[in-house]
Amino acid sequence: MVSRAHGLRPAVFLDRDGVIVVPQFRDGRSFAPRRLEDFRLYPEAAASLKKLKQAGFLLAVVTNQPDVGNGLVDRSEVDAMHEIITRELPVDAIKACFHRQIDDCNCRKPKPGMILEAAGEVGADLTKSFMVGDRKSDVEAGRAAGCATVFIDLGYALPPPDSPDYVARSIAEAADLIIETVLTAQEGP
Ligand SMILES: [Mg+2]
Ligand SMILES: [Zn+2]
Repeated sequence: MVSRAHGLRPAVFLDRDGVIVVPQFRDGRSFAPRRLEDFRLYPEAAASLKKLKQAGFLLAVVTNQPDVGNGLVDRSEVDAMHEIITRELPVDAIKACFHRQIDDCNCRKPKPGMILEAAGEVGADLTKSFMVGDRKSDVEAGRAAGCATVFIDLGYALPPPDSPDYVARSIAEAADLIIETVLTAQEGP
């Protein structure tokens, strides 16, 4: 169903909080859950990711978790959250940046470091891949990596991204839209 030029496959890169994980909302903004007991996957995440898998996409989570670098959350707590993701969802890789903004690392989105690293690991063709996220920095990272971008608009009181390729309201909508886009492209002119 999908092309495999040079053995590379299309992938969907997924932000974590606000995409597959229910964020905590405060003052029109969203935050990563800090405690394992507050960690919840969106109910539709499993079915949405399974659909993408069946359509031939590799799946990789790429997430900024600066609460770790800022000493607000233990790394072990985040690792436990990611074990749940690995167990419940059909993902091929999870990349997390634990740095603070001032660390100026190459992995923190909007830089494309985590996408590039995950792509190399799983064998993704970035030109046929998508980045899905709920913030401007997700769209910018996806664009910098050469992917199409899907902005999940949760109505935050934050500046929206400049011209994402697609806009959706949930991971379920994003998955349907990605699959539809690929099917349309295959029908061709
Ligand atoms: Mg997010
Ligand atoms: Zn980093």
